[in-house]
Parts: sequence; C-alpha cells; structure tokens
Amino acid sequence: MEYLPFTRPTLDEETIQGVADVLRSGWLASGPQVKALEEALSAYLDGRPIRALTSATAGLEVALQLCGIGPGDEVITPAMSFAATANVILRVGARPVFVDVDLETRNLDLKGAEAAISPKTRAIMPVHFAGLPMDMEALYDFADEYGLRVIEDAAHAIGSAWQGRRIGSFGDIVSFSFHPNKNMTTIEGGALSVTDPQEAKKIELLRFHGISRDAEGNMDVTVAGGKFNLADVAARVGLGQLKHLDAFNARRRELAARYFDRLETDPPCLLPARGAGHSWHMFAPLLPLDRLKITRRQFIEAMHERGIGVGIHYPAMHLFTAYRALGYGEGDFPNAERIGRETVTLPLFPAMSFDDVDRVCAAAGEILKAAKQ
Ligand SMILES: *Cc1c(COP(=O)(O)O)cnc(C)c1O
Repeated sequence: MEYLPFTRPTLDEETIQGVADVLRSGWLASGPQVKALEEALSAYLDGRPIRALTSATAGLEVALQLCGIGPGDEVITPAMSFAATANVILRVGARPVFVDVDLETRNLDLKGAEAAISPKTRAIMPVHFAGLPMDMEALYDFADEYGLRVIEDAAHAIGSAWQGRRIGSFGDIVSFSFHPNKNMTTIEGGALSVTDPQEAKKIELLRFHGISRDAEGNMDVTVAGGKFNLADVAARVGLGQLKHLDAFNARRRELAARYFDRLETDPPCLLPARGAGHSWHMFAPLLPLDRLKITRRQFIEAMHERGIGVGIHYPAMHLFTAYRALGYGEGDFPNAERIGRETVTLPLFPAMSFDDVDRVCAAAGEILKAAKQ
C-alpha cells in the first residue's frame, strides 16, 4: 500500500508551468510576482496592506522590530507552539512570558495571560492553533485593556475565519507561513498583514537592508534592515496556490469531519476542539498514554509499519534548554506539557481520500486496542 505521509502539498500543472515561465523571464528575485502575490493576498484579506517575506519566522521577527520591542520588554505567548514563536522574541532581545493553553482548543488561555501581565509587557503573540481562531473579541479586549500590540502567529490559519471574517483581514499584525506543510505554500515564505500603510512601508525597510531611495534614485539606509525578501519564483508558486486555497481548506474540513466520525478507539483519544472557521491545518488527537502499555514513540513506529506517517506538533517550548535557562521547568504549564507528551498529528492534506482517513482510523484503533492496559 502507498505510504501516507502526515502532510503533502498539492501543486497543479499550471503552477509548475508558471514557475518555469518565471525562471525563463530572467527576473528571479523580488519583482512582479511578489507584487502580484501581495496584491492577491490583499484582495483575499479585505484590502489590508500585505508584505511577503522569506518565512513566517522572519515575519514574526520583523513584526517585533516594527513594534520597537527589544531588551527589557516582555511578550506573552503560549507555552505550546512551534519553536519559532518564542525564538523570535529572544532573538530581538526581549523576554518570552509563557502562558498555558487550553487542552482542547490548544489556544492561549487569556486568564493565564492576565496573570502574566507586568509593567514590561509590550505585546501578546497568540497562535491560532491548527487553524482554529482565538476568540478575537476577547483577545483584542484584553490587548486594549493593557495597551498591548497584538502579533498573531497565523502560521496555521490562512483561510481560517472568526465570525465570518478571515484571520488577517482585521486585527493588528498578522503573520502567515507558506512553508510546504502549511495550508498553502510558496516553498519557503510568509506574509505580514497590517492595518497601517505606514507600517507596511516600514516592513519594506526591515525586510530589505533598510534601503530607501529619493526621487533622484539616491540610496539611503534609515534602519539596519535584514534580508527577508521573497523570490519571484516562490511568489509564483503562492499565486498558483492561493487560487485553490478555499477548495483546499474545504477539503481539509471534510477530512477532519471524517476523522470525527471514524476515530473511535478503545481506550479513547482526546480529540481536538472543533469550531466554526477552522481551516484544519492539522488533526492532532492526544493519545491515552496512561491507559496504554506502549509509548508514543512505539505508537508512531507501529503506524509507520502500516505505511502511515505521524507527526508531533509540538513539545512544550518552556521545557527546551534555551527556555529552561530563563527559569522555566516541569509543572509550570500542565496542559502544554500534557499536549507535548501525548499529541500525535495524523495525516491530513487536501489530496487525501476518505478511504485514507478510514485506513488511519483502523490502524490507530488496532494499535491502541492491542496496547490497552
Ligand atoms: C510553521 C510555523 C512557524 C514558522 O513558519 P516558517 O514559515 O517555517 O518560518 C511559526 N509558527 C508556527 C505556529 C508554525 O507552525
């Protein structure tokens, strides 16, 4: 039987042909394709200013710089996310202040955030985990109350919506990822959505050496910008993807619904929260490890033997060496730690069939039943 990975991008021939055309055009780095992608994303997100970058990690770092966040500042962020979410805070010299997440939504708990506020808190960086939007009203009320910037890590959430409005079409600064594992790809790449066109101009400086030019074309450097500009070849992939994004996400929702129908194991897994506007970047139940004779690693290996790929998203960040060094340790964030121990990401990508989902559910059911304590 064909190996089923936990994710795989879907690229059509039109996109591949389009990339070949860009390669032949002689213009490979940032140019007309990047501009076209930014315009198409802006049209998708209700006309907001959008700037493309080489990754979401670059986008988050640039967003922090845009807010003037650095040494002496604190940024509130969930203890369970991809490492980039916290790393960028350290990289600009600020301190990540972790808060726990909800066991089922996997999203940052605002009550925990309230307890984490200090006079140094400058921003909150929530994650729309797996594509399930945060409660945006509660989030922005919280940010208003404490005078914080909001940098939304929307790496999982392109095409997600909250109360019918797309993530990134409103709010403060919103960062998307177009890594091949995400809901649409530019190979590597990302984009920032902002409210203020002046901030979009600043992103242009921060992503490309801080270079500006006057009317005569004389170059000036006003800030020590980095080098985070997207390539035209990558942008052309993104243009091909964006056309299919809503269909991709609709398919993801159907496949997730199938998992909810069919994944009935004994002992049962703890399934992720469902919700309107979810784009199902991934489907990640928690294994009932305390009722099993096997470890998570053994479960993953048993699935692999049956030709099924399983991922882990993600270990709790505060237990990484770089964050223990800030004083964090076991017991600080019980939900993040439990998710970190028990989570498994089952295959979910648009080209999958319902039969594929059924095969995954049957395999998981068999393995868990045989391992029951
Ligand atoms: C993938 C991911 C990122 C980083 O995205 P890149 O484009 O690979 O830099 C950041 N945050 C989260 C939650 C992610 O899943």
